[in-house]
Amino acid sequence: MYTSHLVNQLKPSATIAAAGKARELRAQGVNVLEFTLGEPDFTTPEHICEAARKAMADGHTHYTPATGLPVLKEAVCAAFERDYGVAYKPTEVTVSNGAKHAIHNVLTACCEPGDEVIIPTPYWVSYSALVELVGAVPVLVETTEESGFCMTEEQFRSAITDKTRLMMLNSPSNPTGAVYPVEALETLAKVAVEKNITVLSDEIYDKLIYDGYSFRSFASFGEDVKNNTIIVNGVSKAYAMTGWRIGWTIAPENVSAAITRLQSQQTSNPCSISQYAAVEALNGPQDCIADMLVQFQSRRDYVLGRLRKIPGLTFADPGGAFYAFFNVSHYFGKTLSGGVTVSNSTEFCTALLENAHVALVTGDAFGAPGYVRLSFATSMEVIEAGLNALEKFLG
Ligand code: PMP
Ligand code: GLU
Repeated sequence: MYTSHLVNQLKPSATIAAAGKARELRAQGVNVLEFTLGEPDFTTPEHICEAARKAMADGHTHYTPATGLPVLKEAVCAAFERDYGVAYKPTEVTVSNGAKHAIHNVLTACCEPGDEVIIPTPYWVSYSALVELVGAVPVLVETTEESGFCMTEEQFRSAITDKTRLMMLNSPSNPTGAVYPVEALETLAKVAVEKNITVLSDEIYDKLIYDGYSFRSFASFGEDVKNNTIIVNGVSKAYAMTGWRIGWTIAPENVSAAITRLQSQQTSNPCSISQYAAVEALNGPQDCIADMLVQFQSRRDYVLGRLRKIPGLTFADPGGAFYAFFNVSHYFGKTLSGGVTVSNSTEFCTALLENAHVALVTGDAFGAPGYVRLSFATSMEVIEAGLNALEKFLG
């Protein structure tokens, strides 16, 4: 049967594909050490699950407004003001089926075919795919390990053309964990306002920040920047709620209204029960985040300590999120354990999975050849075993 060229050119999500490959191998009885998917291994905190059970018991099992429940939109505004001191109105919030859906909505609502969207690399796999899906053109700006994987003002300026519609920023970053310094963010914000370029700031990892780093929302640099910014966030990462599929956009009213119109034709509304759970996540006790962060911090420190001891690997310390992103190109062309040689990151990941049963994601998927991504959102036991196996594989 016929399938459209737009969908034919769409690659499957590399992170989800890598996780699928590991799962297949596990089904064959292999003990795979899994570092692919970026999702917290913790269960959703009990008070949030309880709110979902209560929502069902109370009969909240019907359609909600397409834009999301008023009580959840108010909770999003209250949490944003509490955490970042910036006030928004509920009419500026649209609740979607996860942050990924929210990003697709923004691109659909804001871009015309042929518009250019600036994306600093390394970038999260879905960014360029979703830009292409709406007929827009990703303009990739290469950042380096030496610059801490942050796009500079000069790089931003030189990527801008008269076709530029949007710039997509992700700090803390998936896959690098890079957290932009406040001054760097402010500079980019000023350029965006000067050039009238909307910034989609994906702040999904805002709560996962490590010692010595701090988070600043892109919308917090004044009224003109706020009016030029669309925030994407959700409950997936901070509250270990990836399966509940709740994310949102905070955007100028006309953009929010456009996204709501889109959703009314497209998904009707996000799951009612998940929305009630998200209300509790935002309004309820926040210490669950701190508890999870303690564990992420010790895993991060352990992973970085081990990687530092392996000759030839290089990386920039992640300041947030739960990924280590390291360069393995030193090992290309060398004979590795099992007698294999590899010449790129994708071959490296395949050989590592087949020979050492360690599953990582290739940097090629993030626009960063030579690199691999390790998600440390898994138990310390798996992390230790995985790094032992990686070390042995590299010989
Ligand atoms: N943005 C980034 C940077 C991510 O890493 C992810 C990963 N899941 C998402 C958005 C999407 O989140 P969600 O699961 O809420 O769709
Ligand atoms: N964002 C996560 C990751 O990068 C989840 C998988 C996905 O949505 O791509 O692994």
